Amino acid sequence: MSPKRIYNFNAGPAALPQTVLEEIQKDFLNFKGSGMSITEVSHRSKWFDEVINDAVARVKRILKLDARYQVLFLQGGASMQFAQIPMNFLDDTRTADYVNTGTWSTKAIKEAKLLGKKIQVVASSEDRNFAYIPKNIKFTPGATYVHITSNNTIKGTQWANYPDTGDAPLVADMSSDIFSRPFDASKFGLIYAGAQKNMGPAGVCLVVVRDDLLKLEAQNLPTMLKYSTHAKENSMYNTPPCFSVYTVQLVLKWLEETVGGLDKMAAINQKKADLIYNLLDTSGFYRGTADKDSRSQMNVTFRLPTEDLEKKFIAEATASDMGGLKGHRSVGGCRASIYNATGVKAVEALVDFMKSFEKKNG
Ligand SMILES: *Cc1c(COP(=O)(O)O)cnc(C)c1O
Repeated sequence: MSPKRIYNFNAGPAALPQTVLEEIQKDFLNFKGSGMSITEVSHRSKWFDEVINDAVARVKRILKLDARYQVLFLQGGASMQFAQIPMNFLDDTRTADYVNTGTWSTKAIKEAKLLGKKIQVVASSEDRNFAYIPKNIKFTPGATYVHITSNNTIKGTQWANYPDTGDAPLVADMSSDIFSRPFDASKFGLIYAGAQKNMGPAGVCLVVVRDDLLKLEAQNLPTMLKYSTHAKENSMYNTPPCFSVYTVQLVLKWLEETVGGLDKMAAINQKKADLIYNLLDTSGFYRGTADKDSRSQMNVTFRLPTEDLEKKFIAEATASDMGGLKGHRSVGGCRASIYNATGVKAVEALVDFMKSFEKKNG
């Protein structure tokens, strides 16, 4: 008998497609006739080679990357990238622009400064507790890159359109919205994303990096912190997180073959987000925390009239098999994370629950 599964609104680690979990389960003891589990095969084996090569090919295809881009699977999470990016690409002669849109951007800025790098925070939405994405930003001419956080997991905001940065390549933390919608990757010099929000289990960070940035790489860095080390070795300079890469590969296969690609995924995500935001907008009870033009399609953040009602809401939701609705501990309130693997059915169930909770308590 399969165990009962809840509607999972976790912010990360987060829901994975059930069919992917079932495929992992089915193949777990004997991967592709190897007589071993994927967690037991050598990363130098043909079995793992096929996995990582397929994962890389799918990333390139889904994001429509041209030959200038390398696809890497690294460890240390997105948080390691906060340091690794300025370490590699900035020196005494180069500066970068950062846009501060929340907790994760703030951390990226802090790491660059810790390293003594010359960076400018060219825009910030801190004045209103990061409830919006700044507009009409003046970027620094000649900046080596412009760093943004494409989706702000904690504050519930997302760039609807990426800014025009002229000649400076965008560098983006896409941890919580990669593969949720199509975008023009050619504006980006580097994209990074921890897997555990929208593409897999924790333990691996996807990095897509373009050769013009790779060329700027500092020489005096530890081997493991140079992108070129991993680019030369197809992410197998050392042992990669094999299980995480394997799961990402299966999720990308699901995205391409079951969902039907990014356009289809984006339409589903739009539908899910609309369901919840329409409720927030027509309710005098729930209140969205992000400005309308800056709302995230991945993390819907909202408040109830009182903190006591929020506690009750989360407790009753949990009792109704809906998990992960508590806001981040730094901001409180409620948050529904509706990543790719959280289906329309789950969101419909949540909206029904929210309506009946409002009726009883509003
Ligand atoms: C979760 C998250 C991170 C942190 O990721 P780790 O892999 O835990 O380091 C960074 N940025 C964003 C936008 C996130 O959502």
